[in-house]
Amino acid sequence: MKRKINTQMTILTIVSVVFTLVLATLAYYELFKREIMEDLRSYAYVIMRSGAVDNVEQMKEYVLAESDVRITLIAEDGSVKYDNEAETSAMDNHESRPEIIAARNVGEGVAIRHSKTIGQNLFYYAVEMENGNILRVGKERGSIWAIYVGVLPWIVSIGCLLIAVGSVLSHYLTQQLLEPIERMANDMDHLDGLNVYKEMVPFAIKIRKQHEDIIKNAKMRQDFTANVSHELKTPLAAISGYSELIENGMATATDTQHFATEIHKNSQRLLTLINDIIRLSELDVTEQSLTMQEVDLYEIAETCVSMLQMQCEKHNITMSLSGMNCFIYANREMMEELVYNLCDNAIRYNYQGGHVSVDVSVEQEQVILTVGDTGIGIPKEDQERIFERFYRVDKSRSKSTGGTGLGLAIVKHIVEQHGAKLMLSSELGLGTQIRVYFGDYIEKNG
Ligand code: ADP
Repeated sequence: MKRKINTQMTILTIVSVVFTLVLATLAYYELFKREIMEDLRSYAYVIMRSGAVDNVEQMKEYVLAESDVRITLIAEDGSVKYDNEAETSAMDNHESRPEIIAARNVGEGVAIRHSKTIGQNLFYYAVEMENGNILRVGKERGSIWAIYVGVLPWIVSIGCLLIAVGSVLSHYLTQQLLEPIERMANDMDHLDGLNVYKEMVPFAIKIRKQHEDIIKNAKMRQDFTANVSHELKTPLAAISGYSELIENGMATATDTQHFATEIHKNSQRLLTLINDIIRLSELDVTEQSLTMQEVDLYEIAETCVSMLQMQCEKHNITMSLSGMNCFIYANREMMEELVYNLCDNAIRYNYQGGHVSVDVSVEQEQVILTVGDTGIGIPKEDQERIFERFYRVDKSRSKSTGGTGLGLAIVKHIVEQHGAKLMLSSELGLGTQIRVYFGDYIEKNG
């Protein structure tokens, strides 16, 4: 980048130097032409007013033969009466020369002619006198090219000097231009104290944020792997231990019965865990390719409530469903999972004789699913964290009721994928209420 800016700046310098020199020379030549014409004009008037041209014979004797100014006197018929540089008899009629025509028409005229033979420009000024004769004065001067060639060494030296200065400056400026960017790249974490371009700050913040996200993600993955291994290890160790005891013949008949029960229980737990882990990784992968359809959330809740009826009875818990049919655009399987996980928790973290209420309704164009219980509640400090993978408030209670610590992580995932919002309110010892707000409510008539 540095090199590119540097090269471009140098090119810019060269182009501007060359352009300036060319344009300056052109402008100077214009000025130079005007200056010559002014000189010639003054000359003509001095000669005219001095009366020197009134007497041609006398002129031939005295006037300006050595001067570099050419003086010509032209009669009314165009014939040359006098010329200080050439023999008049050898000169043709001048009536058709542009400067003479102009002088006849408007009193004065100018012309510049290039002479190839002498490689010079000839400048002429002509003025009509009172007696009808025309006085013409002329001068030879170099053409623009001749002038160019004359000053070429100067132009080249000035050009080179300017380009050299420009290159040094561009090198210095490039360095200055890039310095804040380099400074920022070296220390993205402390932008506030650094003198950096304010236009670049959002860019840097974005990169920093992405960087942090990558680190966070990597850390989460690492934690998750460690947690998974740990979670799987416990039931596996139990299974291995019990089966070893049986294998060694160290268990009595009643022990064997008990060990088999333990083995069965632990393998069930392993299966549940593995199912939840698989489910989570599926959810991670299928982020884009969800099959969404119109589903009735109330109907899903109804199915779920009746499915959990047995479990409720086992714990002496009552369950109620209220609300109305509400259609949303969602993935059916995920909605079933979401309602099931919330209701399942509401039963598992409840007291004997407690109550679970499920409600599906519309508020301000939003479909809201509410699952409330009269259970043990969640301490304030844990409320933020219960949606994390493997986070449990009371590990032994979770385990003894068949929990994996992944249910709410799955819920959170589903809610995010449906662009919905979660709200939790809970009072320790009194109960918990979780509400899910779905944005896209589909209106159904009849
Ligand atoms: P688990 O499989 O342990 O139930 P979840 O992810 O479903 O895992 O829930 C995480 C933790 O949040 C639970 O271990 C429990 O401590 C707490 N929790 C979830 N739902 C409730 C509830 N309705 N009442 C009280 N605590 C709850």
